[in-house]
Amino acid sequence: MKNKNSDLFFKNIRKDFPILDQKINGHQLIYSDNGATTQKPIKVIDSICDFYKNDNSNVHRGIHTLSERATDMYENVRIKVANFINSNKEEIVFTYGTTSSFNILAKGIEDQISEGDEIVLSQMEHHANIVCWQELAKKRGAILKFIPINKDFRLDLKEAEKIITQKTKIVAISHISNVLGTITPAKKICSIAHKYGAYFVLDCAQSIVHMKVDVKEIDCDFIAFSSHKMFGPTGVGVLYGKSNLLEKLKPSIFGGDMIYEVSFTCSTYNKSPYKFEAGTPNIEGVIGFGAAIDYLNEIGMDNIELREKELCEYFLGKVSEVKDLKIYGPNSCNDRSCIFSFNIDGIHSHDMSTLLDMKGIAIRGGHHCAMPLHTLLELPSTSRISLCFYNTFEEIDKIVLALKNAKKDYEKGEFLLK
Ligand code: PMP
Repeated sequence: MKNKNSDLFFKNIRKDFPILDQKINGHQLIYSDNGATTQKPIKVIDSICDFYKNDNSNVHRGIHTLSERATDMYENVRIKVANFINSNKEEIVFTYGTTSSFNILAKGIEDQISEGDEIVLSQMEHHANIVCWQELAKKRGAILKFIPINKDFRLDLKEAEKIITQKTKIVAISHISNVLGTITPAKKICSIAHKYGAYFVLDCAQSIVHMKVDVKEIDCDFIAFSSHKMFGPTGVGVLYGKSNLLEKLKPSIFGGDMIYEVSFTCSTYNKSPYKFEAGTPNIEGVIGFGAAIDYLNEIGMDNIELREKELCEYFLGKVSEVKDLKIYGPNSCNDRSCIFSFNIDGIHSHDMSTLLDMKGIAIRGGHHCAMPLHTLLELPSTSRISLCFYNTFEEIDKIVLALKNAKKDYEKGEFLLK
């Protein structure tokens, strides 16, 4: 189909995702938990099976044909990832996911941080972009500071200008909040960080699948993201770092493949990115990740952005009809994505998840690994609907109908039947 931004195109695309064609609790599945993980197209699933059927071998170590082929396939994905974010292949470190990327970064940067140095995060961060910095701060006597959010659930830029100072060594924020859906002004905050010579780190776990991320355009020093949130397999992720900065970073996982030379007394390390990839990596995961990137490129990130903007506008319009429902996030689709956290008065998010699950609708309830943000908002938890391009307007209608009936169903105790 030529017109890759038509509703029909995106409806047809659902056929690529076999898992979507099933009933849950007697209803057609509506998968709206894409912020947690996305479903996998058949091309990704097949690429992993084909690798095991035809090419399986370890990478970087064998001289035989299969190993060379597996190595070529693995390294080719590094090039695909680099092109996807407009970087060089040497700047792509394969990790096990965003969390592992942050841990590698925070550990590797440790000896560049001294007592009294400041690390600036924001109030809307995922635990993956908080806890590793807390550990680093504890070890080195550094101080964590947080850019506040304003009442519209956006980052307060004026405060950011005050908080980021000469003392700041690292500014690490999310590109899209996994709770609020807010798209943060990454380029602006990056330029403030650079004004003071601080590193700018961007958590792209949520953004990478919803918008074009160009590391050169933003001028990021490091970014992190996971394959499983972009239609690829779990257990694979990326730490991007500018070449000269990766060279300065210390490895924290030691063993085979990350070395240059080893004696009984000491070792020298391989160059980046290999010095961060000790041991046998998740080879089939990387191969599947490559297929996911091909898949996204085939559709086109521009088309995905357009489609999701339409879904976002439609959802916000429809959901405003639901009584007693409050959305925590910006009310304009210009700087938000299709991640909607909400509560309906009187219904706990876990009960809401169960109520919707009974109608075949998969959402998430809880604190979404952002406890400090929930504490700040004085909320024990929220329910979260997170859409992506394979969701449809008809599905949104069904979700909104279920939300309209939620109170009635809840009072009837329907969720207890589960
Ligand atoms: N950061 C953000 C913004 C996220 O949404 C997530 C996943 N929920 C992570 C980091 C962590 O990703 P992973 O669990 O794949 O390591």
